[in-house]
Amino acid sequence: MEKMLLSQREFFNTNETKQISFRVDQLQKLKQALKESEELLFEAIYIDFKKSPHETYTSEFALVYHDIDEAVKKTKRWSKPKRVRTDLLNFPARSYIVPEPLGNVLIIGAWNLPYLTSLAPLVAAIAGGNTVVIKPSEIAKNTSVAMQKVLSAAFKDNYIHVVEGGIPETTELLNHKFDKIFFTGSTPVGKIVYQAASKKLIPVTLELGGKSPVFITKSCNLKRTVQRLIWAKFLNAGQACTAPDFFMVDKVIKQQFLELAKQEIIKANYSVENDNYVQIVDRKNYDRVLALIDPGKVYFGGKTNEKDRIIEPTILDNVSFDDAIMQEEIFGPILPVIEYDNIDEILGKVKALPKPLACYIYTESGEEKRKMLNELSFGGGAINESHMHVANSNLPFGGIGNSGIGSYHGEFGFKTFSHFKGIIDKPTWFELRLKYAPYSATKLKWIKRLFR
Ligand code: NAD
Repeated sequence: MEKMLLSQREFFNTNETKQISFRVDQLQKLKQALKESEELLFEAIYIDFKKSPHETYTSEFALVYHDIDEAVKKTKRWSKPKRVRTDLLNFPARSYIVPEPLGNVLIIGAWNLPYLTSLAPLVAAIAGGNTVVIKPSEIAKNTSVAMQKVLSAAFKDNYIHVVEGGIPETTELLNHKFDKIFFTGSTPVGKIVYQAASKKLIPVTLELGGKSPVFITKSCNLKRTVQRLIWAKFLNAGQACTAPDFFMVDKVIKQQFLELAKQEIIKANYSVENDNYVQIVDRKNYDRVLALIDPGKVYFGGKTNEKDRIIEPTILDNVSFDDAIMQEEIFGPILPVIEYDNIDEILGKVKALPKPLACYIYTESGEEKRKMLNELSFGGGAINESHMHVANSNLPFGGIGNSGIGSYHGEFGFKTFSHFKGIIDKPTWFELRLKYAPYSATKLKWIKRLFR
């Protein structure tokens, strides 16, 4: 590892990765390598947790390809020094901001969207002009092997290198000096990464998770709300960082919501036989999710298939904030419904929880939208939609508080993997002598005037 990291530093120091043409070439090479290996990559994720080609494309590759295309088009513009105004005190001079690569960066991915959480940051890191070490999650084993195979065939080790492994390998990586760590995963592991990074003053981006709340008010378009939410909740069998976690439904429409939600689940035909539904990734997670189902509160679903690690979409009714399901991120196909009759009261309860990665508000009332956006703090989210804010690369994607630090996608990703140098460029033909000794009351008077 030491040798590989040294070779990455040496390569970075040749300045080759800084050239815009190099970055663009490498982005195109990445896209070509992924396209050519789609069969291998799609098969690997199917073995890991029966993720269908439909979901694999829509929730992983579509976003990565879009990010690559955008970065190919815009890296030159993003990398240009930007002129800014020069203040009077510095006159005459030119002031500009110069983006520069950070250097040798480490990307640690999660298992639930194994390609997206490793490759989307990789695109941004390449656009930023860095050398990269990627550590995909060991839990989605086959995708980790596949990515290693594809990336090592396309790129030299001294530029992009995949380290496979779990806790020991990640711990070892965290002992090294990187110029940036970009981590996607759980909040507890995020804290471990942050702590390790702090010892070497390494900047971090932490893309974490949390319990993303959903508000369904009585003014919503209920039919559309249910259609969008059932898709969003059971995509990847709920194993998504931006999955709608718990549903707060106005008492007046709750019964109707429950019935429509049940019908929508039946209509979607979530069965493994026809690839509409994915498995829970491993036995540990299967047991964990199962333990969150209170049999006395099941409104619909609840059936399981232990051999294939399948948990049917399950709706829980009459859930309260004290229930086990409300104590951790669900990360599985369970839909808990909490009824409310006072919006301020329910907002108060949500505000008392850690700040989530996403929040979803289903309402047709402008006043309700404004109120919730104004009062709640969360990473990002949507009104009358779920997950889809992640697909718009003009929006920053990231958490706040317990759900993360920093953001990426599109230009935000480029910025995450760049440093911005502020420069004053001064001609020598003129000098204002105010700052120099010997000091005097007149000089001070003028400085005070100029600094006003
Ligand atoms: P995780 O934290 O268990 O693992 C993430 C990575 O950290 C893996 O590569 C793993 O090998 C490594 N790791 C695990 N334990 C470690 C330790 N003790 N020391 C060092 N490294 C360690 O997360 P996960 O189970 O892969 O993913 C699920 C979590 O990730 C959920 O909370 C989800 O919300 C979050 N997530 C967030 C995003 C996002 O973009 N914000 C995307 C996907 C997943």
